[in-house]
Amino acid sequence: MNIYNAIKEGSKVLKENNIKFSDLDCEILLAKVLKKKRKYLILNLDKPLNRKNLEIYKNLVKQRSNGKPVAYLTKKKDFWNSEFIIEEGTLIPRPDTEVLVEATLELFKNKEYANILDVGVGSGCIILSILKEKPHFYGKGIDISHKSVGLSELNAKKLSLENRVRFIKTDVDNFCNGKYDLVVSNPPYINSAKINYLEKDVKSFEPKLALDGGLDGTFKTLKIIKKASTLLKSNGKLILEIGYDQKFRITSLLKKNGFYINNIIKDYAKNDRCVISTKIN
Ligand code: GLN
Repeated sequence: MNIYNAIKEGSKVLKENNIKFSDLDCEILLAKVLKKKRKYLILNLDKPLNRKNLEIYKNLVKQRSNGKPVAYLTKKKDFWNSEFIIEEGTLIPRPDTEVLVEATLELFKNKEYANILDVGVGSGCIILSILKEKPHFYGKGIDISHKSVGLSELNAKKLSLENRVRFIKTDVDNFCNGKYDLVVSNPPYINSAKINYLEKDVKSFEPKLALDGGLDGTFKTLKIIKKASTLLKSNGKLILEIGYDQKFRITSLLKKNGFYINNIIKDYAKNDRCVISTKIN
């Protein structure tokens, strides 16, 4: 079978299973099997696949047809300006979270030095993207998941940032190390009762620990706000990702805990997604 037919047949299987971007997904999976870029496939559509590669590809298509996200099959995901290693058990970086990175870089564009804390690092994509762009920034990332800490360390090495960041396995409640210019976080913020209504790919494959924000979705964000108010230097910034319907609740919690609201930023779908605030006392 040649590359063209492999993509067509794979895509048919995915379509039958209601997978949205079936052609694109098959191209990414086949490129992974052949260890080539997608561009190579398009330029070599009539090249035959050997039996072994065809088997591996069919197996990946099968897993994708059951809903397993592409990033868990390829074990990588592009985010901001870098490619991150991704493993099951950690949240896959979302394009919407790039809004948070962009806002942070804009806010700190004239600052040369800053000490950053990322709470709930996952793959490390937020703090590592910031450190990559700001060569004199440094910081720490914490996560309750052992797997996330290991993966973030791996990504830090891949991006040659391991000398400017340390990752620690801890709950935010038990962390009280250092004073920061910036605390960033994409906490779990989905209302527990709504987890079951997320897309199948998300609810069946991504870690609940990284999604479940308790009964009203703000339980973990509140913990972070409280802790940030003790860990931030005076005038330090807290930049949070929030759920599309959490703007009023989160800004009110921030104000109650001594923060000034600088800005609310929308994501690519025009939902409120990121709150920038400053510790004022
Ligand atoms: N934005 C994620 C989703 O769509 C949720 C991430 C989170 O809870 N931090 O599933």
